[in-house]
Amino acid sequence: MHQVRLEAVRRKSGGRIHLTPRVPRGGPVTTLCGQTLGEGSFAATDSEADCANCIRRSRDQARISGAFFAQEEGSELLRLSLEQARTRKPDLRVLPHPAGERDKPVVWPAPKAPPETAPERVGELVTRGFKPSGEGVWRSPLGVIVRMRKQGKEWRFAEVVFEGEVIATRLEAGLRLRAGDVEVLPEDGGFEVRLRKKT
Ligand SMILES: [Zn+2]
Repeated sequence: MHQVRLEAVRRKSGGRIHLTPRVPRGGPVTTLCGQTLGEGSFAATDSEADCANCIRRSRDQARISGAFFAQEEGSELLRLSLEQARTRKPDLRVLPHPAGERDKPVVWPAPKAPPETAPERVGELVTRGFKPSGEGVWRSPLGVIVRMRKQGKEWRFAEVVFEGEVIATRLEAGLRLRAGDVEVLPEDGGFEVRLRKKT
């Protein structure tokens, strides 16, 4: 027989007395028979276990060490995460980062060039007439704000914001949106955003 000492645990509401490697002071406990008893719903007991499954499994050395391992690993992870929360530093012993992947700075694209040298198109936006107004944000002469979002390498239309007249029109291929001097049109499964052509 193994020499491991198991502890007996019982639901406060009664029922069978189960076995577990260690009855924790906080949190849930998992019994040898595989039940998880919620925090505060159980208490350690000195009585003999009477759960047939727990008793049977207590004779299985592999299962006992597995249960111990799971519990020890769980409490070790909890300890480490508490420690990390305190120090706000990752524990590199436990979570080694591949060399070179650590502290990699976030690379933001350079601010957009002034309009006169801006490319004709940035993804779904025809930039002619727009002024860049931050990362992926463009402003039309009438003050319509167009937000573009980068998806992979492509800038895609994300949002139009305008406090003024907005007209949405159903087209065969989707929806055309006119907001002030800006027009959003369906195009190839995506959109094209541009200044409205002067009429
Ligand atoms: Zn049991």
